[in-house]
Amino acid sequence: MTSTQSLFPETYESSRERFRGYLSTIKKMWNKAELHQHVMSFDNELSIDWIYSEATEKNERILVFTTGEHGVEGYVGSAMMHMFIENHMPKLDPRTTGILLVHAINPWGMKNHRRGNKDNIDLNRTFMLDPQFDPSFNPAYDKLDAFLNPKGTLTSIFYNNLTYLFRLGWHITTMGTRDFRLALLLGQYRNQQGLYYGGKEMPEETRVIMDLYKTALRDYEQILHLDMHTGYGPRYQMSLVNSALDKGSSDYFEKRFNYPLVVAATADEFYAIRGDMIDYIYGLQQRDFPNKRLFATSFEFGTLGDTYYGLFQSPRVMVHENRAYWHGAVNENVRAEAKRGFEELFNPSASNWKEKAVKDAEQAFKGILKAEGYI
Ligand SMILES: [Zn+2]
Repeated sequence: MTSTQSLFPETYESSRERFRGYLSTIKKMWNKAELHQHVMSFDNELSIDWIYSEATEKNERILVFTTGEHGVEGYVGSAMMHMFIENHMPKLDPRTTGILLVHAINPWGMKNHRRGNKDNIDLNRTFMLDPQFDPSFNPAYDKLDAFLNPKGTLTSIFYNNLTYLFRLGWHITTMGTRDFRLALLLGQYRNQQGLYYGGKEMPEETRVIMDLYKTALRDYEQILHLDMHTGYGPRYQMSLVNSALDKGSSDYFEKRFNYPLVVAATADEFYAIRGDMIDYIYGLQQRDFPNKRLFATSFEFGTLGDTYYGLFQSPRVMVHENRAYWHGAVNENVRAEAKRGFEELFNPSASNWKEKAVKDAEQAFKGILKAEGYI
């Protein structure tokens, strides 16, 4: 058994090294398993790594496990991957089950502890069935642009928190909470330095991952996809976030998986976004592979909580970090403070948080694998 603390890697490189080392373990069950790498075009030290194997006898179903779409969230993702490989993978049946494990979809973001890729692109705004990187999409974002993306050096965090709260109150009063959150999270394709930027064209990372999903849907009758994220939802209860394209209700899935918290990614239950990766795989299945059985979900390990306070703390932390990144900070203390807040949002340090996160993931892995017929 690995201790909880040691599940969580310190660096991108050590996480990748550990991941590559899984190949020999996996080969004991899937003798045809191979390690693949896509070396990033802009930096040959960075790569998207995955281990893939077909079933050893008949390709009936595949388990897809992905981490690090939002770079910095890859540390928690890596911990969950490790636990999955140690405790749950050995229960799968390699004769009929294929396996696709992806380490750090966004390696630059993981290495540099940012959410976006090197072009500030939030990859979870880029997975579109019919790719449209339309700069005029989500016009309401313009109302929030100056609030979310203030220019100029980050001075005192205290002073900027006050400004943030004041402006937040004003925007919520004028727009209403629902419209505010929608404009905030939906995605935008025009401010290259802004939060939730989706880019001008399909990023390299997205292209690589889309090809993997197409292969999985093409070659297997049943696909189960588990994707790891951090940052939203209650601090001590991981949320399973389903696609709005899955017709099952959240209540239904809570019973089915024997898991206490399932939400759907709609404006009412969670949030609606364009270019969501899980929506993409559902869209692809419904359009091109309607007879295949698919269940895909995100594990969202909450950190700041889902109270009114928590909901609006996450953008605050992201605003400061993004500002310091583009415009610098007045001194090293302020820069470090902005970065620390950001790190606590997406890669928290507390050991009791880590322990509960692991426990929740264990319960969800068990419930989902059983309900979907994988164990
Ligand atoms: Zn995420």
